[in-house]
Amino acid sequence: MTHRNAYMSDELQQIYDQTVDFVSKEVTPNGDTWEQEGKVPRETLHQMGSLGMLGLRVPERHGGLGMGPLASATFSEALGSSTFAGFDVTVLVHTDMSGPHLVNSGSDEQLSQWMPGILSGETILSIGVTEPDAGSDVAGIRSSAVKDGDGWRINGTKTFITNAVYGDMTILGARTDPDNKYGISMFLVPAETDGFSVSKKLDKHGWLCSDTAELVLDDVWVPDSQLLGEPHRGFYATMQNFQNERMVLVGMGVGAAQAAIDMTNTYAQDRKAFGGKLFDLGAIRQRMAMNQAKVDAARSLMYHAAWLEEQGIDNVKEMSGAKAWGCEIVNEVMYDCLQFHGGSGYMRESPIERMHRDARILTIGGGATEVMLEEVAKRSYSAH
Ligand SMILES: Cc1cc2nc3c(=O)[nH]c(=O)nc-3n(C[C@H](O)[C@H](O)[C@H](O)COP(=O)(O)OP(=O)(O)OC[C@H]3O[C@@H](n4cnc5c(N)ncnc54)[C@H](O)[C@@H]3O)c2cc1C
Repeated sequence: MTHRNAYMSDELQQIYDQTVDFVSKEVTPNGDTWEQEGKVPRETLHQMGSLGMLGLRVPERHGGLGMGPLASATFSEALGSSTFAGFDVTVLVHTDMSGPHLVNSGSDEQLSQWMPGILSGETILSIGVTEPDAGSDVAGIRSSAVKDGDGWRINGTKTFITNAVYGDMTILGARTDPDNKYGISMFLVPAETDGFSVSKKLDKHGWLCSDTAELVLDDVWVPDSQLLGEPHRGFYATMQNFQNERMVLVGMGVGAAQAAIDMTNTYAQDRKAFGGKLFDLGAIRQRMAMNQAKVDAARSLMYHAAWLEEQGIDNVKEMSGAKAWGCEIVNEVMYDCLQFHGGSGYMRESPIERMHRDARILTIGGGATEVMLEEVAKRSYSAH
């Protein structure tokens, strides 16, 4: 379906069209193989790098396009059209969930050292925050980093870390001030660092071509030059970046939900039943029309929240609402789309079956619905 929204400049439209074109040629036809292999081939990420797709948010002086949040919204929605959310998240964890930590907090030396590889797809990033005992409650991180000579000694475990099995560097959160609940710092930890290891490649319900790791940090030592930003300020850096993370998760979900609606409408037009087509049945037409309206609304709220950020206006309420409501909507839409595909939608060979599985994590990862709603609630009244 043609893309339309009020925030779409010619430049953004070009990004949208180029991305949709790329995924339709390079991703959708190959995704089933990647799902079986449990990984996205590095050549595809290199290809994206050479097309400039990995640097939309990277400042121009460091080789990127220096664009704002609307570019990420557009890019994530366009990726969602691939129908392989495992691929979408592989890219977005690199470009929009990990990379911004370096862009926002990195020194010029750090950016000069790491950005060329990040932009080309040579250095694939992951973000290592979650631990077995610290998920939604980021301040519960127990991994520790202790000053040791002209560097830091890191010990601990991480879990559910996307891109860390096959990726090259983790931007990792560890506690540096044991006396302060929020005393966390972020570190650049290349995968080949001594003591850094993947203890398990996790097996998941969906996102099968995205790799997810459990990590062990056993006396990992990194030099001061790999501390990212101010020491003990990593919690705030993580919170700042959460807005972007939330946005691209709902963005890829909206893109996928639109693809699912388009697929289901086509299927219902083709499928013969009761002397006509499924699409002739009022119950189906109406519910699909309502699904379209919901996806249009979720998309609008996401772009509006992105636009607020682009104007420098606080958008935590709007973006949290977009993440909470949008990701619930995506799941509702996937449920109906599978339903209207009948038994064939339940078969593993059906894209809808995969898209339905892939959508489930969206209401949990990067801020569970309930956590997002608390953010909205806190900002929805003024104290008297
Ligand atoms: C496939 C996958 C990929 C991931 N990738 C990454 C990654 O790359 N990097 C990374 O750091 N993390 C990653 N995560 C972790 C993800 O962000 C966490 O799973 C998420 O933050 C929820 O944390 P948790 O699983 O510990 O659930 P918990 O925090 O234990 O919460 C469990 C449930 O309780 C409810 N809940 C939690 N808090 C509240 C509250 N305050 N009020 C009401 N209800 C609440 C929610 O329903 C929530 O789903 C990934 C997870 C998955 C499954």
